[in-house]
Amino acid sequence: MHQLTLAEIARGLADKKFSSEELTKVLLARIAQLDPQLNSFISLTEDLALQQAKAADARRANGESGALLGAPIAHKDLFCTQGIRTSCGSKMLDNFKAPYDATVVAKLAAAGAVTLGKTNMDEFAMGSANESSYYGPVKNPWNLEYVPGGSSGGSAAAVAARLLPAATGTDTGGSIRQPAALTNLTGLKPTYGRVSRWGMIAYASSLDQGGPLARTAEDCAILLQGMAGFDPQDSTSIDEPVPDYSASLNGSLQGLRIGVPKEYFSAGLDPRIADLVMASVEELKKLGAVIKEISLPNMQHAIPAYYVIAPAEASSNLSRFDGVRFGHRCEDPKNLEDLYKRSRGEGFGAEVQRRIMVGAYALSAGYYDAYYLKEQKIRRLIKNDFMAAFNEVDIILGPTTPNPAWKLGAKNSDPVAAYLEDVYTITANLAGLPGLSMPAGFVDGLPVGVQLLAPYFQEGRLLNVAHQYQLNTDWHTRTPTGF
Ligand code: GLN
Repeated sequence: MHQLTLAEIARGLADKKFSSEELTKVLLARIAQLDPQLNSFISLTEDLALQQAKAADARRANGESGALLGAPIAHKDLFCTQGIRTSCGSKMLDNFKAPYDATVVAKLAAAGAVTLGKTNMDEFAMGSANESSYYGPVKNPWNLEYVPGGSSGGSAAAVAARLLPAATGTDTGGSIRQPAALTNLTGLKPTYGRVSRWGMIAYASSLDQGGPLARTAEDCAILLQGMAGFDPQDSTSIDEPVPDYSASLNGSLQGLRIGVPKEYFSAGLDPRIADLVMASVEELKKLGAVIKEISLPNMQHAIPAYYVIAPAEASSNLSRFDGVRFGHRCEDPKNLEDLYKRSRGEGFGAEVQRRIMVGAYALSAGYYDAYYLKEQKIRRLIKNDFMAAFNEVDIILGPTTPNPAWKLGAKNSDPVAAYLEDVYTITANLAGLPGLSMPAGFVDGLPVGVQLLAPYFQEGRLLNVAHQYQLNTDWHTRTPTGF
């Protein structure tokens, strides 16, 4: 039963082949048995899950239907869940029980989804390896000595290991797409403003966006449907109607114009990944797509721009964790300054402290114009590159990451080496565009992802292209040994 996708679960529940309660029990037992190897969960919510599963079964018995009614999922542990620890992967929030549900959590619960637990993540979503969590690193089910990617690494590892069919993630610079690529999943970062950020603990507010992680594009469509929509509580939420994503999956790719940026194939890209990217292009050509070389001339500036803007916003967002209102408070503070310093010094890990320092520096009086403002201008140039490209093509295709997963600890001593892994994903966040990563092959037994980018609000187009690709390939069906 653990092999079923969300779409298959919906059919099984509708045909009364099994109940949500039965399925939930199977998956909870599987998590208890296998998660100790992976460390993909921070908290399990067994009681809530069984209660939600029974309620979903009762709703179905009363004639209700819906693709998420009774479907087991998990939330990245930065979505606030009422009465349940919401740690953000940090010692700072180890004792924090959210007083309310995030909009995404509330919407999915209302649709009948069953929450199995809260997944592990990089501390405050800062990272590409899921090694900065206060709760310990997450292991990649494809090889337990390798990282699963980050920061939504717990969601990715759990879904890849068939502990559950789908989970939520968030993506500030790649944290849905990159772990999806490294664990053989499909992951979608929606257009900025498509999914409410209310109740999502902020990292960099102008870049953060929640989205689905699942094995197939079909399942991402189902989960996104439950997450997306206007929310008056989030001032950057966009009041656009939400299309029927599942209905968008069956479009023909005949004549679809796919742009492949020449800047993507630089020296940093593993040539074996470049080959798999070109193989995916060939596959899409067979389905009728036409390929065009394009250029994104400002791409080289993306990493420096992101690693000023994201830490700047983070330093501001994280100033609320001061040991006074909530979160970790040091023992016996001597005075207010001591309280602030020790509470923050003890509560935040090394990578979070590094980002706060970089961000506070970039925002400080003498440097604001030289760094923060400058990078905001570069951000606009990057967006303009995309706007020009989308005048010529319908989709942009390339690698999701320059390398496959790396060994646990391999990049710990060199944070910049990890930052470089984000080179293909962060531009979509800087421009606010939707992006999807889909499984496209293996290198040394480790999964490789191909990234698709589309114009604003064209999530349906991304899902359709990925679905058509998945109807004609079987990479996404491969299962890691032992799971
Ligand atoms: N790796 C990037 C960072 O550390 C992206 C993280 C994310 O998308 N949350 O900032």
